[in-house]
Amino acid sequence: MLKNLGSFFCCKRSRGKSEVQPPTKKIKTLSECPICHESIVSASLTSCGHTFCEFCILNHLLYKSDCPVCRKEITKSSLYPCFQFDQATKANLDPEELENWYKREIELKNWKNLSKLKKAKPGMKVDVLNEAGEWCSGEVKMKIDYGDEYPMLVIHYEDKEDIDDEIISQSSDRLAPAGFYTKNAKKII
Ligand SMILES: [Zn+2]
Ligand SMILES: [Zn+2]
Repeated sequence: MLKNLGSFFCCKRSRGKSEVQPPTKKIKTLSECPICHESIVSASLTSCGHTFCEFCILNHLLYKSDCPVCRKEITKSSLYPCFQFDQATKANLDPEELENWYKREIELKNWKNLSKLKKAKPGMKVDVLNEAGEWCSGEVKMKIDYGDEYPMLVIHYEDKEDIDDEIISQSSDRLAPAGFYTKNAKKII
């Protein structure tokens, strides 16, 4: 299966080109993320047909709503995992690169886990993404708990423009633990 996928990539790329490269090199180039320029980790396929590391595209979509390659409008809900892409990428890495790939996969899992708001309660400081797509500091004013897995929270926040109170689900990607984005914003982008 992987071999078939590999030859598919090679045929497509080599058509009309006189320069011949070893298949492995071509696959490595194809499995490079357009954002971080490393091998794609946890491949995320967009509705416009482009592929990125899940970490890279999720970060991009926190601030923008377009595809970094073709600029078509995309949303987080239109991203799909692509397990075969990951298998093909891993199959073509040498042992050192593969070790690095797994390290980055662990970092991604840690990042996803740390970015989630857990056990929110009134008075707790949080990071909140405002309507302009900027992270700012906020506070949980009230918790509306109907016994569901994720309660709704009344979040009070101030940004450059406004002071706002908004009801946001605790599970929303627009909320994160205090300082997660506001302190590390530069590092994460
Ligand atoms: Zn990437
Ligand atoms: Zn695209």
